[in-house]
Amino acid sequence: MNAPSCAAPALPPDLPPGWHWNNRFAALGPAFSTPMNLQPLEQPYLVGYSPSAASLLGLTSEALHSPQWLDVLAGNTVPNGAQPLSSVYSGHQFGVWAGQLGDGRAVLLGELEPPTGHGGESQEIQLKGSGLTPYSRMGDGRAVLRSSIREFLCSEAIHALGIPTTRALSVVGSDHPVYRERPETAAVVTRLAPSFVRFGHFEHFCHHNLHGDLRQLADFVIDRFYPQCRTDSALKGNAYANFLQAVTQRTAHLLAQWQAVGFCHGVMNTDNMSILGLTIDYGPFQFLDGFDPGHICNHSDNQGRYAFERQPQVAYWNLYCLGQALLPLIEEQDLAIAALETYKTVYPQAFDAAMAAKLGFPTVQNGQTDLLADLLRLMAVEHVDYSIFWRRLSHWTGRAIDTPNAAEDALVRDLFLDQDGITQWLLHFSELHTYIPRGLSANLMLKTNPKYVLRNHLGELAIQAAQAKDFTVLAKLQMVLAHPFDEQPEHSTYADFPPDWAGSIAISCSS
Ligand code: AMP
Ligand code: MG
Repeated sequence: MNAPSCAAPALPPDLPPGWHWNNRFAALGPAFSTPMNLQPLEQPYLVGYSPSAASLLGLTSEALHSPQWLDVLAGNTVPNGAQPLSSVYSGHQFGVWAGQLGDGRAVLLGELEPPTGHGGESQEIQLKGSGLTPYSRMGDGRAVLRSSIREFLCSEAIHALGIPTTRALSVVGSDHPVYRERPETAAVVTRLAPSFVRFGHFEHFCHHNLHGDLRQLADFVIDRFYPQCRTDSALKGNAYANFLQAVTQRTAHLLAQWQAVGFCHGVMNTDNMSILGLTIDYGPFQFLDGFDPGHICNHSDNQGRYAFERQPQVAYWNLYCLGQALLPLIEEQDLAIAALETYKTVYPQAFDAAMAAKLGFPTVQNGQTDLLADLLRLMAVEHVDYSIFWRRLSHWTGRAIDTPNAAEDALVRDLFLDQDGITQWLLHFSELHTYIPRGLSANLMLKTNPKYVLRNHLGELAIQAAQAKDFTVLAKLQMVLAHPFDEQPEHSTYADFPPDWAGSIAISCSS
């Protein structure tokens, strides 16, 4: 076997001018994390990278292609000033208290702060799959290439859709074997976020009655990300209740966006819920192909706890766990409940607003709820393709009345066997559009209903090619998904119906 490239580590790379490390999470102290020596990854190679994520760190594509940065992204070199650590958290998994979890295969390198005047946010840089940590439990601390590519692609695709998410800077691979159901190879995905704190971090300190640490963590997150909670006079001016309410509202908005675009997360355990309301921890996720409200994308989710239509309710359940964890700080149960209750108004409002835009309404319309319910019922019966329907309806709306177009009309109707049903529905839809200029509606719809989403089979093709060391399929798919609302006619095959074999792709928690 060749000597690992870490045998002669490259010098740490220079940071872009003006950037510096400011490792705030590390500064919280030893109760929250364990300092890490990174485990080297032998003979790493760059599988993919995101120029747009790189720009968040002021990094150019050339820099990312340098051997120095490759060694950083593989975990083989620690940049000067970084303070690698793994954090401790706990959580509820599939509705059951799971005890201590923690960063079992993730290492936070540190937090990079932009120069003054840059305008961007500081970013924490986390390597996922970088080897054993004190929180690895029975795991090996590694991630396989297939799941790293899925996380990489989806993070950047969700961002391009305008949905809050952790970002993905790169995937680095190695021929180092990793054993799952079969032998695979290792990879490290580098993630970026202003913070990787999860609901489970708070649950951890509450569960162990470490209320001083709990307060320190809450104060840290509030001061850094929710400073208005200190001055908000609502909820008796209780900063921790206001914090819970702010997280509740961000989470409600996130869930409305997932439901609108047809995104199924798959493992909404409380340790996979971001305190910033970001989509985090991409595992067995799926964008819906045919619309099925009960769709379960996680092969390991036997009970369907995380089925598509259950996600908003699960988020609320998870927020209750967070509320419970913050109770020692909030002190008054009524305030915690009042903060959580806002979910019941904010989620439906956010969902209605998102669906109004999908339907081409600049604001929520009277009658929209019935219109949508009728549509989803029709679609569910025949498992009509979710993304294709909305995109075709957007084009239909632009042309159906002003310049009647039989082909456009057929494209929508042909998606349904129930021809009477869709005819009635289109009539009803047109009625609600009577006073809205068609062009305005169509524009709104084309900016809201993506042509391109990361369907499972597309990811699978990129993975298969990458496993054979061809990374061009991944790069091309990534480029298409970076502009999901653009027509990109030369790439239209990426917007086709999934092939028959897509139905047999089984994605589990194994990664
Ligand atoms: P997840 O289902 O990916 O959110 O992971 C749940 C917990 O298991 C987290 O604490 C992870 O860090 C940990 N974990 C998952 N996979 C591994 C692995 N291969 N090695 C060590 N820990 C892991
Ligand atoms: Mg997780």
